[in-house]
Amino acid sequence: MKIVDFVSTGSVEQASTVLKQLGAKGILMAGGTAFHFFSSEDEKTAVVPDDEQLKFISENNGFFEIGSFASISDLREFSNQGWVLDRVAEEFATQQIRNMSTLGGNISQVFPWSDFPVVLLALSAEINVLEEKESRAYEAVDFFRQQPGKFLKNGKIVKSVKIPVLEKGEGFGYKKEKRTNAAFSTLTVAVYVKLEKGSIKDIKIVSGASMGMPKRLGIIENELKGKKADTGMLKEKVKALAGQYSWKGKEGTTKEYAGCLAQTRITDAIVEAFNEAESEVE
Ligand SMILES: Cc1cc2nc3c(=O)[nH]c(=O)nc-3n(C[C@H](O)[C@H](O)[C@H](O)COP(=O)(O)OP(=O)(O)OC[C@H]3O[C@@H](n4cnc5c(N)ncnc54)[C@H](O)[C@@H]3O)c2cc1C
Repeated sequence: MKIVDFVSTGSVEQASTVLKQLGAKGILMAGGTAFHFFSSEDEKTAVVPDDEQLKFISENNGFFEIGSFASISDLREFSNQGWVLDRVAEEFATQQIRNMSTLGGNISQVFPWSDFPVVLLALSAEINVLEEKESRAYEAVDFFRQQPGKFLKNGKIVKSVKIPVLEKGEGFGYKKEKRTNAAFSTLTVAVYVKLEKGSIKDIKIVSGASMGMPKRLGIIENELKGKKADTGMLKEKVKALAGQYSWKGKEGTTKEYAGCLAQTRITDAIVEAFNEAESEVE
């Protein structure tokens, strides 16, 4: 893709109008870090909204709301009780890329290595999209059912993302496997867990990278729900069930290796979530 012109707009509503006028010749630009991954020779005009109004993180009624133009560095620096995205941002590429990349850009065009789609699925996020001058809320499971870039056309813009503030009894686990420090993920696992009296009341396990598009591991989730949060049981169940999914080898590794790695890292992520849920944090 070749950028042949830039149009700077004020609000995202104005950006949306310009994008509609440009049709296939226009592209919304947030951090611009994904543009060199688009291999076509198409000529496009980059539409760049005033990002300040969508560069926020706020907390209200048990939810964090994050403006889509918040950078990955903003997510890393933010700190509050029940906030977990700093742990994901910490593992994301390099500081230069964390400074430029935005949350909206990371989830609007999903690559196999994209970290935040995996995490937002585990946290049952809500994604607010500007459509025809109104905001429409999508559950993460619907938003990521297909490549979001395919339906974010005709002036549709992600405005914000809502995730729950994690409370006592809830935990989050995150494991990202990469060959070198700033390399793309070869396996990403995110886990949300809610424990009640030592038993697993709710669990969401999502994997990306060696699965292609991020995927909920429902077979494992269903087997764990209602069981005691016990590491021995967990290891056995994950070992028995991870093979029911198809794992892809990455960066020269085999699918068998990817499957074995998945067993270990899924277990690690769940244990991390158990530990957090069991901690006495008020
Ligand atoms: C060397 C390198 C390593 C990387 N490593 C990782 C990694 O380990 N993990 C990871 O997750 N990512 C990684 N990334 C970043 C990832 O690949 C994307 O480049 C990045 O997330 C895109 O964010 P952006 O804000 O730059 O979006 P842009 O590049 O500006 O946009 C990306 C796409 O999304 C669309 N878009 C952007 N914002 C919105 C919005 N609000 N609403 C609707 N559509 C929108 C754009 O039109 C475009 O199609 C890496 C990038 C590089 C260059």
